[in-house]
Amino acid sequence: MALSDRPVLDRRRLSPASSGMLRVMRVRFAPSPTGVLHIGGARTALYNWLLARGQGGEMLLRVEDTDLERSTPENVEQIFEALRWLEIDWDGEPVFQHECADRHAEQVQRLIDSGHAYRSKAGPAEVAEFKQEHANRGFRGADEGEGAVRLRVPDEGHTVVRDVIRGESAFENALQDDLVIARADGTPVYHLAVVVDDADMDITHVIRGADHYSNTPKHLLIQQALGVETPVYAHVPLLHGADGKKLSKRHGAASVQELRERGYLPEAVRNYIALLGWGLDEETTLISTEELKAAFSLERVSRSPAVFDEQKLRWINGRYLRELPVDELTRRLEDLTGRAGLRDAAAITQEKMSTLDEFWPLARSFFEGPVDDSRAREKVLGKVGSLDNLRAARGALAEVPEPWTPAELEARLGSVVEQLGVKGGQVYQPVRVAVTGTTVSPGIFETLAVMGRAETLARIDRVLAASSEP
Ligand code: GLU
Repeated sequence: MALSDRPVLDRRRLSPASSGMLRVMRVRFAPSPTGVLHIGGARTALYNWLLARGQGGEMLLRVEDTDLERSTPENVEQIFEALRWLEIDWDGEPVFQHECADRHAEQVQRLIDSGHAYRSKAGPAEVAEFKQEHANRGFRGADEGEGAVRLRVPDEGHTVVRDVIRGESAFENALQDDLVIARADGTPVYHLAVVVDDADMDITHVIRGADHYSNTPKHLLIQQALGVETPVYAHVPLLHGADGKKLSKRHGAASVQELRERGYLPEAVRNYIALLGWGLDEETTLISTEELKAAFSLERVSRSPAVFDEQKLRWINGRYLRELPVDELTRRLEDLTGRAGLRDAAAITQEKMSTLDEFWPLARSFFEGPVDDSRAREKVLGKVGSLDNLRAARGALAEVPEPWTPAELEARLGSVVEQLGVKGGQVYQPVRVAVTGTTVSPGIFETLAVMGRAETLARIDRVLAASSEP
C-alpha cells in the first residue's frame, strides 16, 4: 500500500475537507518556553486567538519544549500566566511537545520503512563537498544504515508555499538538501515534530512569526512524505522598534510581564498589539476586543515589519484607563499594589494617569504622609509670601465644616485668593506642598477632601511650626 493511501496519523479527529465535511478551523499557538513571552509572541497568540474566536474555530496551545535544557517549568508557567493576563484562552489541555517524543520517533521510523527517509553519516563537511561537486545542488546521500535520518527530497519540481499574507513562492526541490529529520541518537528534530504535531492536532491554519517562513518548504516536504494535508500558512511580520531594529529590551517594555508591571491594561495591550501589522483602516486606533474578533482577518495582515511604539500604547492605555468604572479601577490598583482601601484615591487620580503604575506616586502621600521632596519645599514654600498665604488658607480651612467636598473647598480657598489679591497658585501650591510634600498630586480640592479636615490641618500645622523654628 502506498504511504499516502493509508491513514497515517491515526489520532486525527476530523475528516479532511476533501471528504466533503466542513472542517472546524483549528489554530495553535506554539511557544518555545525558553524565556518570557515577548510582545511579538503575544501578538502571534492574539492573531491566532482572534481568528479562532471570531470564526467559531478552536484555539490550541502547544508548548514546544523539546529543548529540555532551556525549557523550564518556570518559563512554561510564565507564558501561561502572561496569556491568562492577556485573557487569551485556549481550548482543551495544552500539548507538551516532549511528551509526544514516541509519536515522533514512530513517524520517523515509518518514513524509513516506506523509503521516504534513510540513515546517513554525512556531516556538514560531506554536505559541503557534495554541493561543490554538484554545482550547489541540494545534498543527496546514500542509505548507510546508520547516522542521522534524512528525508529524501525529490529531484524534480518545486515545493510551493502558499501564504495568506506573503502570497505564493516556489522553491526548487533540486536545491533543497535531503533534510535531517532525526539526529543519529534517534531524537527527531524540530521540523519533524512540528509537522507531526500539527497533523495530530488537526491544525487547519498555522499562524506564526515570519522568522519561520524559511522552514515552511521543509515542512511541506515532510507533510508530503507523511501523506498529510498541508494547513493554511500565514507568517506574520516581525516587530521592530522605532529605530527600525528588531524589537528588544532597548525599546522599552519587551515582555508581557513588563507591560503588566508597568501598569498597562490587558484590553489596551490587546488593542494596540492587534494593530501592529493589521488594521481596520488607516484611522482606527481604538478598537475593542469584541470588534477585533468580528473584524480580524489574515488577509489584511501587512507584509512589512510593524513598529512597536510604547508611547502609542501609553496613549491607548490612558484612554482605556479613564473609561474604567471606579470600582474596577480600584480592584486593578489593589491587585497591582497589594494594598486595600484605594477607592477614594483611585477616583481622584483616574484623570491623571496613563498607566496604573502612575497611581502610587500621585497617591502615596494619602497613605504614607507627605513625600520628602526638598526641592518642591524650597521652590514653593521658600517663595516670599508663601507661608503667609498658607497661614491664611489654614485659617479659612479650619472654618469649613465636615464633610469636606471639593466644591466647598474651592469656594473657601477661592475667597482667600481674592482677599489676598494674589494668583490662585500662590495659595494652592503652598497648600499642596504642605499636605502632599510635592507639587505632583491630583486636583488640590479633591486631594484635601479625601485627606479630610483633621489630617489636612495637622499637616499644614507641622509645616508652619517647622518654618517658625529658628
Ligand atoms: N516554537 C516556535 C517559536 O516559539 C513556533 C513554531 C511554530 O509556530 O510553528 O517560535
